[in-house]
Amino acid sequence: MEHNDIEKYGITASGKRELLKYLSGERLTRKEAMLAKCYECMNGYTDGKVDCQVESCPLYPYMPFGICKITKRRKLTPEERVEVGKRLKKARAIKKRVNQTEANIIESRARNPLLNVRISNEA
Ligand code: SF4
Repeated sequence: MEHNDIEKYGITASGKRELLKYLSGERLTRKEAMLAKCYECMNGYTDGKVDCQVESCPLYPYMPFGICKITKRRKLTPEERVEVGKRLKKARAIKKRVNQTEANIIESRARNPLLNVRISNEA
């Protein structure tokens, strides 16, 4: 599809703006590229905003009007939820400690400029 054809015949739908952006030479994000590809593949959705039904296409789960949406969420049992909660809590505590340690290092270097010199000489 040419830039002019898209503007003339392509209906307003998800992917139009992205495809025009691409054809103008701009860089797209992955999501924009996926939307643009489906828009192009569906010939500007001239037959309507419908499902392409090409389940073999790798982009199908991301097709804006596809029935197959990525809706798979991991179902957790109550025990698994507790375990996940514990792991998250532990990970947050570690992150907090690391941040605090980094802040302490920065603070001590700010107080003692000689420390910076020694470290830079080591490298
Ligand atoms: S998902 Fe459908 S519309 Fe999108 S690129 Fe694949 S075949 Fe084309």
